[in-house]
Amino acid sequence: MRLILLGAPGAGKGTQADFIKDKLEIPVVSTGNLLRSAMAHGTELGKKVTAYMESGSLVPDELVIDLVKERITQDDCAKGLIFDGFPRTVAQAEALDQVMKVDAVIFLHVEDDVIVKRMSGRRTCPECQTTYHIVSHPPKQEGICDKCGSVLGIRSDDNPEVVRQRLAVYHKQTEPIVKYYEAQGLLKVVECEPTIEGTSALVEKALEV
Ligand code: AMP
Repeated sequence: MRLILLGAPGAGKGTQADFIKDKLEIPVVSTGNLLRSAMAHGTELGKKVTAYMESGSLVPDELVIDLVKERITQDDCAKGLIFDGFPRTVAQAEALDQVMKVDAVIFLHVEDDVIVKRMSGRRTCPECQTTYHIVSHPPKQEGICDKCGSVLGIRSDDNPEVVRQRLAVYHKQTEPIVKYYEAQGLLKVVECEPTIEGTSALVEKALEV
């Protein structure tokens, strides 16, 4: 199955992508994680995208599209995949249409004020990129990643000023995709619940119909 998880930054795309990954045994393709990894390794791409990412702007379409085209040809994507954070513009959605037919688009809907509150408590593993929340999804041991034991940190673009910028970018550049996929009959809207498990149950239901 080929899925897209759509939603504002902080809507819970990464968390729900992990839930679906475990259920369907297909990989998550997160452009945010791929770009952060390029930055951490100091690659040419990483150097090109740092300023965009740190300011909360979108990385230029052509860079992201090339990155995705390369990633989806890898063997693990043959059975299906879950896109998290891609596409983020109509141009990216159109480019994806040229190379792959997706089966469904799950739109995680959350109000902006809930997102700003959530992002202030988000903690991220710099190694394996697993995300936690200090209240709703804490790690077993405070400040330590359950999966790889690394010390958790706060993403530099999770500070309130950059979060507001990322939300503005989302409404302007990414939200038009909702209509794009609605018109293709692919959109499944999930109204997010206060708990991760509550939202996962709705995601599961959306995948069955
Ligand atoms: P994320 O981890 O998905 O919240 O993405 C973090 C940052 O990476 C975004 O604020 C953008 O700067 C960049 N980014 C991730 N995915 C994309 C994309 N599909 N198009 C453009 N920029 C992206």
